[in-house]
Amino acid sequence: MPISRNDVLAWLKAVAQVLAENREYLVQLDSAIGDADHGANMDRGFQSIMGKMDEINDKDIGTIFKTAAMTLISTVGGASGPLYGTFFLQAGTKTAGKMELTIQEWAVVLEAALAGIVMRGKAELNDKTMVDALTPAVEALKKAVGDGKFQSEALAICAEAARQGMEATIPLVARKGRASYLGERSAGHQDPGATSSYLMLKTAAEIWKNA
Ligand code: ADP
Ligand code: MG
Repeated sequence: MPISRNDVLAWLKAVAQVLAENREYLVQLDSAIGDADHGANMDRGFQSIMGKMDEINDKDIGTIFKTAAMTLISTVGGASGPLYGTFFLQAGTKTAGKMELTIQEWAVVLEAALAGIVMRGKAELNDKTMVDALTPAVEALKKAVGDGKFQSEALAICAEAARQGMEATIPLVARKGRASYLGERSAGHQDPGATSSYLMLKTAAEIWKNA
């Protein structure tokens, strides 16, 4: 079964909950190599999206994603607000007017969303950012879909690739964002943005496994 409008709303709700639960964890990761606000930023942004639920309840997926994007841009400061804002804006452009998405379409949406982050933030692979979790996740999802995997399995493969990409940020020296100010001292710590990206994709795999 395709991913419906309601499934997309359920995903945003579940992400808001997961980010609230992981607020302190993300703050701790950001306190090691940044300014200790990533957990608070993400929690605030997604709680604001929850405040828009009544407004987007009966809308198409494109409108849902675009509303999420504008909310993140206006409520989350720092690097991650505009970056995740662009992620959802690109997702919204790809899904304009749509009431459901096949897993093939979701792979295209996720690829465009990642391209938005890269266009905006100019991070390359191994710069120790969210791009390091999202890039392998998109590649793995495209391959899984191409190999004809079932939706639930393809989403699980995508989340697992994000988890590996997230863990692979630990030894890296940051070359983008605040963590890059630390130079070599940024090595040995997991990137907070890669972690929030993983949490979002892990939540999609859980929430949509029976979609
Ligand atoms: P800030 O760094 O402004 O305090 P956050 O703490 O909310 O913002 O987010 C930090 C995360 O943003 C980093 O862990 C990293 O994953 C991501 N990030 C920072 N700069 C970039 C960039 N240019 N491209 C992609 N991701 C980035
Ligand atoms: Mg920060």
